[in-house]
Amino acid sequence: MGWAAGPAAKNLNGLSYNELLDRAIGSLSRTFDKSESWLRKCIFRLHYHDWSKDLFSLGAYSYPKVNGLQAAEILAEPIDETIYFAGEATDFTGANGTVHAAVQSGRSAAQKIAGVSWTRVTVRLLQFCQLKPNELKISREILF
Ligand SMILES: Cc1cc2nc3c(=O)[nH]c(=O)nc-3n(C[C@H](O)[C@H](O)[C@H](O)COP(=O)(O)OP(=O)(O)OC[C@H]3O[C@@H](n4cnc5c(N)ncnc54)[C@H](O)[C@@H]3O)c2cc1C
Repeated sequence: MGWAAGPAAKNLNGLSYNELLDRAIGSLSRTFDKSESWLRKCIFRLHYHDWSKDLFSLGAYSYPKVNGLQAAEILAEPIDETIYFAGEATDFTGANGTVHAAVQSGRSAAQKIAGVSWTRVTVRLLQFCQLKPNELKISREILF
């Protein structure tokens, strides 16, 4: 897998698919001391993603704004023990902007949900579905 970031990525901006492929093959050739023709024969499948043209990231990682260090902690707060949030943006341990923060925040939200009392979940479910208690025919085993 190849990865170019920062100034190296900027230098690749505007290159065509074939030009990028040539650069990648050239880099592999120098790194592993193998001929470019040999490497081309070894290619099974190719994929590349230009993050700088990705409308949802524009090449950037997420980051807190100035004075925004507490934002993640606030965002991670559940609402009324009903809505729970996860994702790297809710990490306030300093790992925001990473996959492991996203995974950990998911685990943490799941643990919080598991800690909520069954009675409370039932009450919320009844309210949400606008049902009376005797109309709730779903068992805890189905829910969890
Ligand atoms: C260029 C780049 C390189 C990176 N490299 C690394 C790296 O090397 N190592 C690393 O650890 N991290 C890296 N990251 C960061 C990592 O990708 C993110 O931190 C991680 O993917 C965040 O996971 P998430 O689940 O919180 O959010 P996301 O992966 O962004 O998932 C959010 C999901 O919600 C969906 N969504 C958004 N709005 C709505 C809506 N209204 N309704 C329904 N769905 C919606 C989106 O489509 C998306 O699928 C990189 C990020 C970028 C942009």
